[in-house]
Amino acid sequence: MPKGYFVCYSCGKRAELSTEERPCEVLSGWLTVSHWKGPGAVEHYNFCSFTCLKTWADAQAPKIPEAFLRAFEEEKDE
Ligand SMILES: [Zn+2]
Repeated sequence: MPKGYFVCYSCGKRAELSTEERPCEVLSGWLTVSHWKGPGAVEHYNFCSFTCLKTWADAQAPKIPEAFLRAFEEEKDE
């Protein structure tokens, strides 16, 4: 019987945790992001791969990569 399970926040893939296993074994290769929202408020997101983490992060902040690219371009001109 699984003790619980982790779900990839991006693609929905499940990693089941049985009573004999530790979370570190089941989540090997996974990534967990802690989103600190304020005092006593923190949300954890699990991702099964860097691809899933990137997909999710890009969706959260679609304008940031573009701003970074522009900053590099400006640096090059000087
Ligand atoms: Zn995934």
